[in-house]
Amino acid sequence: MMSTELHQLSVAELARQLREKKVSAVETAQHFLGRIRTHEALGAFVDMNEEATLAQARAADTALAAGNAGALAGVPIAHKDIFVTKDFATTAGSKMLAGYRSPFDATVVSRLAAAGTVTLGKVSCDEFAMGSANENVAVPALGHPTPAPVRNPWDTSRIPGGSSGGSAAAVAARLAPAASGTDTGGSIRQPASFCGITGIKPTYGRASRYGMIAYASSLDQAGPMAHSAEDCALLLSAMCGPDPDRDSTSLDAPAEDFTRTLNDKLDGLRIGIPKEFFGEGLAPDVRAAVDAALKEYEKLGAKLVPISLPRTELSIPVYYIIAPAEASSNLSRFDGVKFGHRAKDYTDLLDMYKKTRAQGFGDEVKRRIMIGTYVLSHGYYDAYYLQAQKIRRMIADDFQQAFQQCDVIAGPVAPTVAWKIGEKADDPVANYLADIFTLPASLAGLPGMSVPAGFGAGNMPVGLQLIGNYLQEGKLLNVAHQLQQTTDFHLRQPGGI
Ligand code: GLN
Repeated sequence: MMSTELHQLSVAELARQLREKKVSAVETAQHFLGRIRTHEALGAFVDMNEEATLAQARAADTALAAGNAGALAGVPIAHKDIFVTKDFATTAGSKMLAGYRSPFDATVVSRLAAAGTVTLGKVSCDEFAMGSANENVAVPALGHPTPAPVRNPWDTSRIPGGSSGGSAAAVAARLAPAASGTDTGGSIRQPASFCGITGIKPTYGRASRYGMIAYASSLDQAGPMAHSAEDCALLLSAMCGPDPDRDSTSLDAPAEDFTRTLNDKLDGLRIGIPKEFFGEGLAPDVRAAVDAALKEYEKLGAKLVPISLPRTELSIPVYYIIAPAEASSNLSRFDGVKFGHRAKDYTDLLDMYKKTRAQGFGDEVKRRIMIGTYVLSHGYYDAYYLQAQKIRRMIADDFQQAFQQCDVIAGPVAPTVAWKIGEKADDPVANYLADIFTLPASLAGLPGMSVPAGFGAGNMPVGLQLIGNYLQEGKLLNVAHQLQQTTDFHLRQPGGI
């Protein structure tokens, strides 16, 4: 095998070749480290530590030689810079954490490492995972003197999506065969869709939140981003499982081998099509790609069932009350005392808090802290926060109604393809509105994924969203895998890569 081809391999194939000693983990790691350096212009990576990467690769080679290696031994992975890591800096895209080094690894990171993955580095994300475009970045990417937005490998004048934009760009550009991401309101699914890769957000509580820097704790979930559903299944199997001592919301659901059901046939599968996902706001090019994927499913034996998720539109105000409310509380820990940035000149403690937070947080983070504090304050709590919580429950109930009539739900991930860098940078509401199709599943805590379904305007990738009932990740991955047996959108590559 020519080493120049290593980056074309799937996780499954790479793991096989490593097991068969056709290639070593060190060789593989070196190959990807070289590619990351060559493609620094994308702004995907924010930290590397070649020594640590190669040490992990050598350990994988030793385990492979001894025959006691994990399922993913030697497979390189990039981690979203929202997971804390011992061997790499962790910034969550914020000046507040510039120079921060965690004394421990997040559970997701350590579980993947236990399966043998080799960490290539940390990838860019929106500050504290707040954003839909990866433009809210306050730390410079490697090779960049100043903070820069991540570029979409399919068209570098466009955004990769957010907040896991660095993860999606890195995988799409073949700088890593896979990456971790987190999804609070769509941050795995939307960048996966915009960059033409596959990503899954599991059921809330499936993956431990320990060591994942908190944005909105009742919504935050980790998941894998890779080329195929099969690769996502391999990674998700390693990532999930109870972590009761460290994350009290981790579900008591045993880790599963999500590859086991990939080949189930789809005969008679009922795919619910929510009419609210196909209204006026959906761009015709996105609709065409989604419709074509749905036709493909009919050929595979599935039945399309019209359903309704009547509160889809309400998911935007509900999410943008609840998420900022939780964020305002979570981010109160960044006070300049325990870790991270501290203002240099101050008069007293209160002044130190104020200056530290004014300097450390970016505009979008401040905006959300203010909204969150407002909706939680006395006199407004009932009018906003409590109402939002009630509607959140109704949105979850709507899904349970829908799942009486169907096995999975399908629709677009986002109303349009990836937009131009800067196009919506000064318009937070335009960013919020673009989250309309991913927010409902997040609010309900349901698993959701994005599967490459074709190309739209500007030859940009379009993702199909699949939403399953609780703990139905295996079903979702199966449904996605079957589409990937008859389509090759997930294998297409941006030019110049
Ligand atoms: N775009 C949404 C937000 O800004 C979702 C982000 C996420 O899932 N982390 O909150």
